[in-house]
Amino acid sequence: MVRPKTEEEIALLRENAIIVSKTLAEVGKTVAPGVTTKELNRVAETFIRDHGAIPSFLGFEGFPAAICASVNDVVVHGFPSDYVLKEGDIVTADIGTLYKGYNGDSAYTFPVGEVSAETRRLLDVTKASLYKGIEAAVAGNRVGDIGYAVQSYVESFGFSIVRELEGHGIGREMHEAPGVPNFGRQGHGPKLVDGMTICIEPMVNAGGRSVYLDRNGWSVHTSDRSNSAHYELTVVIRRGKAEQLSTFDFIEKDPKIIF
Ligand code: MG
Ligand code: MG
Repeated sequence: MVRPKTEEEIALLRENAIIVSKTLAEVGKTVAPGVTTKELNRVAETFIRDHGAIPSFLGFEGFPAAICASVNDVVVHGFPSDYVLKEGDIVTADIGTLYKGYNGDSAYTFPVGEVSAETRRLLDVTKASLYKGIEAAVAGNRVGDIGYAVQSYVESFGFSIVRELEGHGIGREMHEAPGVPNFGRQGHGPKLVDGMTICIEPMVNAGGRSVYLDRNGWSVHTSDRSNSAHYELTVVIRRGKAEQLSTFDFIEKDPKIIF
């Protein structure tokens, strides 16, 4: 049973969501050929701390950095490193905050300079599938309706959904019930009710859906080495509808950011 959040809790989750949204935009301003993923981590960590928040990923179950920076065939949980981004790469920044006892968690896949038409399509379809999932996140629907909306959209373009990882509830804990898979059956799973706060986060591979775990014990790669994209937003079900707490507006309304 998921306890619905109070208005006060929703307000605190929104504060976190805004910090995370703005941090993603700071990272977006930094993404360019020649920049290391460690630099993206530095920019994000500085921005989070400057806003009085804690980068919640750092030390989470031993994770070594403030953000996940996942390049090309890395689906999620990439370690920021000395890898130098090059034209045509894609890089996902997944960012979490802890602020006033609540959590924020959102992700965005950025193109590095010009990317191929196929890669562009992967980014566009993955992001659009997230909004399809959000549309399905209305009171009275079930978690399976979200997964169905995401999966059917993505697969209609010939891309595949990663099934080993999923979205989640969010609150005092970064990961709360219910799990929110990106695949599913309509009318199945936990019921969505007002006051639920969830992160919806499709992970989409250009090739097959099979993935493997890196030797580092964290990073997840596509088995066929195809590119993978990942977008994540936090939403609250409020007055029956899904309302976004985090937003990509800070990224997409900034003329300096290529997205
Ligand atoms: Mg995340
Ligand atoms: Mg998440």
